[in-house]
Order: sequence, then structure tokens, then C-alpha cells
Amino acid sequence: MNKLAQLDLKFVWHPFTQMCDWLRREPVVIVKGSGAELRDVRGRKFLDANSSIWTNLHGHQNQKINAAISRQLKKISHSSALGFANEPASLLAERLVKAANSKSKTQNPKLAKVFFSDDGSTAMEVALKLAYEFTQRTRYKSVGRASRRAAEPRFLSLEGAYHGDTIGAVSLGHIDLFHRAYGRMLFKTDKVMSPYCYRCPFNRAKPERAGAREYRKCNWECVGLVEKKFAAQKRKGNPYAAFVFEPLMQGAAGMIPQPKSWLKQVSEIARNHGALLIADEVMTGFGRTGNIFACQHENVQPDFLCLAKGLTGGYLPMAATLTTQKVFDAFLGEYEEFKTFFHGHSYTGNQLGATASLASLEILQSEKSIHARQNLEKNLREELKSLWRLSNVGDVRQVGLVAGIEIVKNWRTREPFELREHAGIRVCEAMAKRGVLTRPVGNVIVLMPPYCTTRAQLQKMVSALREAIEEIF
Ligand SMILES: *Cc1c(COP(=O)(O)O)cnc(C)c1O
Repeated sequence: MNKLAQLDLKFVWHPFTQMCDWLRREPVVIVKGSGAELRDVRGRKFLDANSSIWTNLHGHQNQKINAAISRQLKKISHSSALGFANEPASLLAERLVKAANSKSKTQNPKLAKVFFSDDGSTAMEVALKLAYEFTQRTRYKSVGRASRRAAEPRFLSLEGAYHGDTIGAVSLGHIDLFHRAYGRMLFKTDKVMSPYCYRCPFNRAKPERAGAREYRKCNWECVGLVEKKFAAQKRKGNPYAAFVFEPLMQGAAGMIPQPKSWLKQVSEIARNHGALLIADEVMTGFGRTGNIFACQHENVQPDFLCLAKGLTGGYLPMAATLTTQKVFDAFLGEYEEFKTFFHGHSYTGNQLGATASLASLEILQSEKSIHARQNLEKNLREELKSLWRLSNVGDVRQVGLVAGIEIVKNWRTREPFELREHAGIRVCEAMAKRGVLTRPVGNVIVLMPPYCTTRAQLQKMVSALREAIEEIF
């Protein structure tokens, strides 16, 4: 076995991994990457079909990002944002604010301030703490201490939500498997049904079945439930402080898209009930759904926009939480009032991360990249069509450049595989043998190619998936 593989097996504990399974075989040790391709220590080539867990935008070893980081390295790699400003972080904050407001046609508050942190979880923690404190200060200002405690700011998020792994972010999530063990450490948040049209409990349409009599028109029952939830909480005298969601598509929940106008409708309900909107665009941000940010598709302007994964183009860990002037102002005061936002990380505003982000945004907003993404989206749609004829493919979902393929025992009944059958994992292992790397979320295979992926590479990703499904089942 390769020396590096041995060291890994001896010392490294991998995330979200049953190490018992991991220790049974020699790991793939990645040593190089170029464009959409990864190379391992044994010289094997693989396609990076999930953009290195949803982070990479323009491919590995991108010349422009590489050059920008090299230039910055010759100046300085890191100085603290506690007490000092720095060049790339200031430039990036301006650029992010511009990008986030570029398509706004609403009267709602515009995003004006950027709080930097390190990853998606911390971007969510920042939004959560700011929303909590903002609500305390603005809504419960006049009530006494005791009743203020009784009326804690409450948060509403979506069923199946995933917002990260730190305790606050976990509290906002609703994936039982990840939350079970930590129940007592978490604070209570409420959940509401999110659309999952393929398994909609209100519409038993199974067009697969002959004469789909059961078909019923969509009456937006899921939107009605959101309205109900907000109204019920209001009746309790403590309306929700904030509504937390992934716009357009829930990622870790299983690449589940929201039908057109869902986001617009529920955002309006939340606003009408005085709730802040916290948009988690850690997965959907930076062109993944077509627009730079997914909220822009429905002209929704959140109060908090949380960004991470693709921010640096997939180069370095960096995150940002954008918020409004109004939220910012609630933290202003004389020093001794202690209204300061007491939160920060050692690497907040890191120069190398900010430099990579600036270079990545520059590429992302270029005509060439926009055109390439449009092509890739179209080609992905074409290629995915070939999967429908497989009897173990239940649903093929695509939003922009993200695809989730839900595999089932039987396409007619939509019967799911049980988690212990490892169906998704087995398919991905069979894809790896064919030189294509991705990870499933449960029974959903994720295809999220870097934007530089060629048509031939895309064809290879989809045919590897097709052959893997045929082989396994
Ligand atoms: C990945 C992800 C997170 C967490 O980000 P990390 O960088 O892994 O902490 C949060 N929200 C969404 C939607 C994500 O996809």
C-alpha cells in the first residue's frame, strides 16, 4: 500500500465517515487536480463530479486564481481583522454587496454589510446570533426581563434542512440522523414542510401507473402549511424571529427543488409576519443555479445571505454573512453600552481567501463564464435524459448546474431503498471504478460538475452513473 494511504489509515479521522468501512480499504489519495480532473498518488485520473463536495467553481489549478494567490503571497498571507482592515477583504466586501443587490427590484432592505468567517456553518452561526440579538433589541425592548425570557426569539426552518455542523447550525437543521445524538445540546427550533414534489403527500400522482387517476392539481398545500405555522406562532404572542431556508433547492436534504414561485410565496408570508429572512446560499450561491445567487430567480431579498463553499472558487475556507444596514445599526452604541457583536474568528477576513474570492468572482461574472454555464446547464439537461429509462431511477432533478438522481427499488411504486442497503454508496463506488468521483446524499446521487467541465467529460460522468446503476441493480 502507498505510504500516504498508510499514514491516512493510521492517523486521520474522516468527516461523515464510518471509519470501520474506511479502514477496510486503501483510500484514494488525491495529489493533483486540473480543470475538472483529479489525479491520485497512483497516477489514476478521476472526474470531480461533485466539485469536491460542492465547493469548486472554475476547476482545479485555475490560472487566474493561482496567479492572484501567488501575487498576494508576496505581500502578506494573513493579518487580523480584529483591529485592522486589509486590502482584499475590503475589496471583496464591496464586490459581494454589489453582486447581492444587482438584481433586486424590491423595496425591501438591501444587503449592505459583510461579516466574514470561515465556513458554511460559521456563516449560519453569525446570521443566527445576529438575528437573535437584533430581535431581542428591537422587538422586546420595552418588555420586562421576565417576560423577555418567556418570549425568546424563535426560528422556523424547513423539514430536512441542513445548515452545518456547529451547535447553532445543527439546531436549525432537521435531519434526524445528524441530530439525534445531540438533542439535549441543541436549542429548539420549529420545522415546517418543504416541498418534495416527487414524494408529495398531497398529490398521489404516479404517472408511471397506467391511467393515473389519482392525479390532482397542485393546490400549494405546502405553502398553506407555512402560513398556518406563522399564524399559530403569532397567536402564541411571540411571532417567529426568522425564517431560515435554502432557496430553490435543498442540498443535503437530497437535492430537492422547490416549484417555481414557492420561495416568493413563503418569503412574503414570513415578511408579513415580521420575520427576518435568512437565506442559506452556501450550496446554491455563485452561479450554481444559473444566477449568481438563487434568491435572485424569485426576486427575494433576504435580510441575511449566508455564503461559503463556492466563495473562494473552492480554493480556501472562507465564508461571509451579508446583512442589512438596519441590522447593523442595532449593534451601534457607546462602548459602555456593550452593544458590540461579540463574535469573531482568528482568520476572519483572511487575505488569501479574500484574494481567491475576488479572482473567482471576476471569472464568474465574465461573459465567457456566463456563456459556459448556460451551455453546461443545457448539456446536463440533455445528458440526464438517458437516465429515465433505468427502472431504478425514480426521479431526475436539475436546478441550473446541480442534479440529483433519486434511485429507488421500483420506479412504478417509488419504493425507496433502506439506508442500510447502502444503495447510493454502492452506486458511487461503482462510478469511482469508472473514473468518476461523487458522493450520494442517501439514495440521491449528486452530479455537480465544475463550470469548466467539457461536454465529453460531462458525458463520461453521466454514462458512468448509468453503467453503475445497471451494474449494481
Ligand atoms: C455545506 C453546507 C453548509 C455547511 O457548510 P460547511 O462549510 O461545511 O460548514 C451549510 N449550509 C448548506 C446549505 C450547505 O450545503
